[in-house]
Amino acid sequence: MSDTLPLSNAAPGFICDVHLGKLARRLRLLGFDTIYRNVLEDEEIIRIARTDQRIILTRDGEILSNKTTRGYRPDSIFSDEQVREVLSVFNLRGQIRLFSLCIKCNGEIIPVDKDSVIVLVSPRSGQFMEHFWRCQGCRKIYWQGSHYEKLRKWFGDVLK
Ligand SMILES: [Zn+2]
Repeated sequence: MSDTLPLSNAAPGFICDVHLGKLARRLRLLGFDTIYRNVLEDEEIIRIARTDQRIILTRDGEILSNKTTRGYRPDSIFSDEQVREVLSVFNLRGQIRLFSLCIKCNGEIIPVDKDSVIVLVSPRSGQFMEHFWRCQGCRKIYWQGSHYEKLRKWFGDVLK
C-alpha cells in the first residue's frame, strides 16, 4: 500500500467493492464520500481508487494485493461493525457530517425551501413537515420523517 493521500484534514474518500453496499450506504449517511456500484469489476475499483486517491474497502484479499492503492479489509461481516472499524482505523469520528450525502447516489444534500419541493412530495409529508433537503446528484428529496428518527437512533447505537 502506498501512502499517497493528500496531506490535509479532509476526510478520505472510499470505494467499496460489490459486496459492501450496506457499508457504503452507511458511510454516506455519516457524510463520507463513498463510491459503490454493484457492477464494478476489481480492475475498475483499483483504477478509480488510484485516480481519485480513494481507499478501497473490501473483504477480498485479491483486490488488496495490488501495491498501488490504499485499502482496508473489514474483519466483520456485519455492516454496523464494519462502520465502527472504518471510523476507528481512519480516525473519523470527529469528521462525521450526518445527512450531508445522498445514501442512494453519494451526491451532496442541501436544504431547500419547502415551497420549491412541496408539489413533489406526498400530501402527508408536505402537510406535516417543515424541513426539506434535496440531493444535487439524483434530485431525491429528503425530509425529517419517521425514517429520519430511525436513522438518528441507528447513529446513536453505532457510535456507542
Ligand atoms: Zn442522490
